[in-house]
Amino acid sequence: MQRTMKKHNDFQTRLIHAPRKAPQFIETVQPPLFRASTIIFKSTSHLFDRHWTDDYDYSYGTHGTPTTFTLGDNIAQIEGGLHCLLAPSGLSAINVVNSAFLSTNDEVWVPDNIYGPNLEHLNHLQNQYGVIVKVYNPIDASSFQPTEKSKLLWLEAAGSVTLEFPDLKNLVKKAKKHGVLTALDNTWGAGLAFNAFNFSDEHLSVDLTVHALTKYPSGGGDILMGSIVTRDDKLHHRLFRTHAILGIAVSGDDAAQVQRSLAHMSLRYEQQSENAQTLLKWLKDQSQFAQVLHPSDETAPGHQYLQEICTNGQSAGLVSVIFKPDYDITAVRRFCDALELFKLGFSWGGPVSLIMLYDLKMMRKLENTHLQQGLLVRFCIGLEDPQDLIQDIENALKQL
Ligand SMILES: *Cc1c(COP(=O)(O)O)cnc(C)c1O
Repeated sequence: MQRTMKKHNDFQTRLIHAPRKAPQFIETVQPPLFRASTIIFKSTSHLFDRHWTDDYDYSYGTHGTPTTFTLGDNIAQIEGGLHCLLAPSGLSAINVVNSAFLSTNDEVWVPDNIYGPNLEHLNHLQNQYGVIVKVYNPIDASSFQPTEKSKLLWLEAAGSVTLEFPDLKNLVKKAKKHGVLTALDNTWGAGLAFNAFNFSDEHLSVDLTVHALTKYPSGGGDILMGSIVTRDDKLHHRLFRTHAILGIAVSGDDAAQVQRSLAHMSLRYEQQSENAQTLLKWLKDQSQFAQVLHPSDETAPGHQYLQEICTNGQSAGLVSVIFKPDYDITAVRRFCDALELFKLGFSWGGPVSLIMLYDLKMMRKLENTHLQQGLLVRFCIGLEDPQDLIQDIENALKQL
């Protein structure tokens, strides 16, 4: 290539139409990054011959680029699916699913421990469009009672605050029997703790998963993204259409960052899972807690269902504690504020350990006999040394 080639007179034009193009023959460790709103068609025949459902017919940034499709293929692979759509946050991925499948008078069933903002979106659909929201107890499949109106069943395994593992087998079986679509928020399992598209000897599968890539796939606590994964072509096309008409798209830069982190995602997940076990053991010996919640614990609600499905012993790095009722909000806030390594913030899956404080009374619709009364603090285990994290909690407990 001739660098000194001066085809255009004006330097401004030359800045825009630079002669040096990316070569096709160099290979790099990470795939090349495409940033695009406009994608340039080679000719009018390329413009007219393209087909909107074809990944390889690049037409416009919202439709996707090689960067976003590469990430999507990898996420689908991790989760055991075939198709993936990306969204700018986990919540927007959830909203695409709700918008694609729910209309007036349709029933949607949600677990009582549902990710809060999903319920808020569904309440919005109920108020504005007459969708009917029903709540079930995730550890009691008999509380899910589908009717002809039931269209969608949301699942979370485990719930992300109180960490009950649902009776996934029986809930999915019942949904299939009644023709109810099953959607799993797979952020906790991340495609690593179990395969949502084949999770028992009976080859049970959910219809689709949603994943907050913000958590483990990003792994940095600095990027927002979500995915919707399916195995079924028809289902994918229905979601694809909703995704397209809503203008849901992600930035190439963000997709490349998540792609870069996928290489070590399973190592981080495994380490955070192990560190959570160390913390769990220690937390259970402390006298200030009425209950320590982690689905791998034998006394945990739904523990038997986790055992059926999560056979590699790994789980997300989340542990919650419920303080004994003698500790009021002022005391628990003193504890939270005294932590130094654990930072106060939403989300999880990043390098920095986080806590969040919850008042369960405000969050539940059903009676939950398996949960003690008291304030709940969720620990999200980062990648610090677990002994340092324990020391941090030990020091802060003195402030109670
Ligand atoms: C964080 C989270 C989401 C939403 O992801 P965002 O990218 O923060 O919108 C959805 N579901 C669960 C279980 C989550 O933890």
